[in-house]
Amino acid sequence: MERVYNFSAGPANLPLEVIEKAQNELSDFNDSGMSVMELSHRSKIYEDIHNETKEKLLKLMSLGDDYELLFLQGGAYTQFVTIPMNYLDDKSSAAYINTGSWTAKAIEEAKFFGNVEVIASSEKDHFTYIPEIPEINKDYKYLYICTNNTIYGTRYAKDKLPNSPVPLLADMSSNILSENYDMTKFDLIFAGAQKNLGISGVTIVAIKKDFLTKSAENLPTMFDYKIHAEKNSLYNTPPTFAIYITGLMAKWLINQGGVEEIEKMNIEKAGKLYDFIDNSKIFKNNIKKEDRSLMNVIFFTGSKDLDAAFLKGAEKEGLFNLKGHRSVGGMRASIYNAMPMDGVESLIDYMKKFEMENKQEA
Ligand SMILES: *Cc1c(COP(=O)(O)O)cnc(C)c1O
Repeated sequence: MERVYNFSAGPANLPLEVIEKAQNELSDFNDSGMSVMELSHRSKIYEDIHNETKEKLLKLMSLGDDYELLFLQGGAYTQFVTIPMNYLDDKSSAAYINTGSWTAKAIEEAKFFGNVEVIASSEKDHFTYIPEIPEINKDYKYLYICTNNTIYGTRYAKDKLPNSPVPLLADMSSNILSENYDMTKFDLIFAGAQKNLGISGVTIVAIKKDFLTKSAENLPTMFDYKIHAEKNSLYNTPPTFAIYITGLMAKWLINQGGVEEIEKMNIEKAGKLYDFIDNSKIFKNNIKKEDRSLMNVIFFTGSKDLDAAFLKGAEKEGLFNLKGHRSVGGMRASIYNAMPMDGVESLIDYMKKFEMENKQEA
């Protein structure tokens, strides 16, 4: 079987180079006579992978040594809990901006620990845009956003990031290192690796050291950011293989020219697809133009039967996992950093063909 174009929202496609590199050194990593999967996390050879991955990620984010980078487990979901556990209590409040499912879940989790105020939301319009951000009260412990909504296909463009008088926190699971955000605006960001940074099993957390010192005392060990930072994310066994793959992805990204270059490619890839959709007679996208995601492009025909026929035909063309999230329906093409332009062009070619064949029914 040839490799297909995989438009899955996550776990998502990896560059073939990264997979082949891992394959080549799978049974014998760096003349150790062992695979990475078998290396002790206390060995020098593993610690080099760990520390180099950390350095590369910080460099890619243009963050200096005033930030700490952690490799944690439990997925992005666990950060919905760890954040309020570390920074919120029943006497304090945090502000959240609701842009759909992922922030809604984070809001529900935060309510276990303190007061949550949803200061802006696009819920009444089915999350089709990023809401305007009102003036932010300085008493909040932090302001929380999700920079890219994977399900609704919206994202904060660079110039829309809030200027927050309180620490700004973000879930970047589905667009980390995809465009050149000023990362120093954030006191804490996190991302599950399986969308834009590698494979499932590791969650990257970058946290400003200043903000780290303000976290709560006496927390259960595995939820205590300070302990993970002190122990260099080696308090217990880290997800070594997932971290190794993240390291290969970071190297790949640096070879592409870093975030600045990948941003140009992402704008071009998403631009081509949105242009086609906007000029199409049967496909539509209802997201406000300036808020459209560069990573998750949603589209629909308006007819369940046509959507189903489209998805069925796509697989015959080697285009997989284009079904929209169950809460939105229609189609979704996830085109993360690793999706080549060829994949996007193949999708557009198929959409053109499908449109020609189905014009009358739309
Ligand atoms: C996928 C996703 C999550 C959940 O990640 P897990 O690693 O499965 O916990 C959270 N936030 C966003 C924006 C996502 O896209």
